Amino acid sequence: MKISFHGAAGCVTGSNYLIETDNFSFIVDCGMFQGSKTLKENNYKNFAYNPADVDFALLTHAHIDHTGLLPKLVKHGFNGPVYATAPTVDLLRYLLPDSAHIQEIEVMQKNRRNERKGLEPISPIYDETDAANAIALMKSVERHETFEPVAGCRVTFHNAGHVLGSSFIEIELEDKGKKRKIIFSGDLGEDDKPILNDPDRFSETDFLVVESTYGNRNREKQTKEGRLQQLAEVFKRAEKRGGKIIIPAFALERTQDLLHDILILKKQNKISGIKVVVDSPLATDITKVFLKYPECYDEDATEIMEKMGGLFDHPDFRFTNSVEESKALNHEKRIVIMSASGMCDAGRIKHHLKHNLWNPANTVLFVGYQAEGTLGRLLVEGAKTVRIHGEEVTTGAQIEQITGYSGHADQSGLLKWLSGVKEVRQQIFVVHGEPESADAFAVKLNEELGFRAVAPRMGEVFELLADQSAAAAAAPVAEKVKEAKAPEAVAPAVDSYNLYAQLTLQLADFMRNSKDENIRREKLKKLLAEI
Ligand SMILES: [Zn+2]
Ligand SMILES: [Zn+2]
Repeated sequence: MKISFHGAAGCVTGSNYLIETDNFSFIVDCGMFQGSKTLKENNYKNFAYNPADVDFALLTHAHIDHTGLLPKLVKHGFNGPVYATAPTVDLLRYLLPDSAHIQEIEVMQKNRRNERKGLEPISPIYDETDAANAIALMKSVERHETFEPVAGCRVTFHNAGHVLGSSFIEIELEDKGKKRKIIFSGDLGEDDKPILNDPDRFSETDFLVVESTYGNRNREKQTKEGRLQQLAEVFKRAEKRGGKIIIPAFALERTQDLLHDILILKKQNKISGIKVVVDSPLATDITKVFLKYPECYDEDATEIMEKMGGLFDHPDFRFTNSVEESKALNHEKRIVIMSASGMCDAGRIKHHLKHNLWNPANTVLFVGYQAEGTLGRLLVEGAKTVRIHGEEVTTGAQIEQITGYSGHADQSGLLKWLSGVKEVRQQIFVVHGEPESADAFAVKLNEELGFRAVAPRMGEVFELLADQSAAAAAAPVAEKVKEAKAPEAVAPAVDSYNLYAQLTLQLADFMRNSKDENIRREKLKKLLAEI
């Protein structure tokens, strides 16, 4: 019995793990690589295994970095059932076609550039037909109900409290007369996050594959009251400035979190009658999926639903669909516009920023993590000018940030989740983190909690049946049977393209702000000499 790591190992995105026994094989998650251009190139490479040989797939949750390459898997021959919770399947009905659409547009733009350069055209990773074929293979499962996809494999989904439908998956396997239990954490949410119930816990396992997005960091602790207070204050300051509030928000979860919190503040009369517009067709569709699953709501959300008739029902809330409706928002003055993407690297939010960022009356509110190299990160870090759709735009608007909305548990949250665990008989694999984060968390688990933990890298394979001999007790139990690729083959989070973009922006700033011709000439000469 072997496990191999094909994504989210030494990086955050591209979650994909393969388990092989003598009798069957399956994958957990099949995510897309996101972030730097170098990381994204992984999406175009062949799978390291033959998709046609995989018997079934399990999905922890709907996020594209866990599901986005499933249509590619199907395109390349996978034809087995894909098990996920009902909300995850419903969300993917919107997310996978959307992802296919994004691929097709990106490739179209790339090919236009390639043609001008005399290069061969490339084809998209997959298209909407492949996405539809993947969705056709999905089977929804109930949480806490054990099922048997094949003989010798029992699977149970538990709540991971990260996004609607998100689960950690417990798998009991039998191979060569031996039994092994392995738990995949998927992504884990914090306790007390809006709308969703707190994550379930588990008490024992042989192996655990655990995420480590914030494995080496603790965020400032934020109570629910503190988060609401901060949001109310941003709205108050924005009211004084008199303009719009632009909120870049992911279509899944963050948009609904914000609507939920704004609704609470409206109910408490802590914010004025300002109208809220969700300007993202995908977010609108996803919000409808939330309404279908009230059994996933925590006490607060249930109370709102019962008292107000619906979780997102308010006369001040509006959902746009057409491009015309979206454009018409340019002429409105005092509104909240919530739009995707959350890091401002694509989608309608870029248009809203282009039209509103210059204006000091406006406020831009960030409520999510901004990865390095994204437009959102530049704004949060205080860039005075940014480039949007090839145009330079000055930052006049007030930039605000609330950190209480993370979808991921931080280090203390992860440790809290693990605190009830009585026994990990074999080993913990730390995944889904930048190398510093995953390695630091593995050390923490080893040294402070006495677990045996390693942070595998892409392509590594571990044998899971090797018995723990007394001599090997101090060493990791799972024998590594294949080493990772050379470190330089693993894509960095910030690649040369990110640095190039940063350099061009800084150069433009320098030329604008530095008035002395001699200094300008000398600096540029030096730079040219270096290149
Ligand atoms: Zn996730
Ligand atoms: Zn993830």
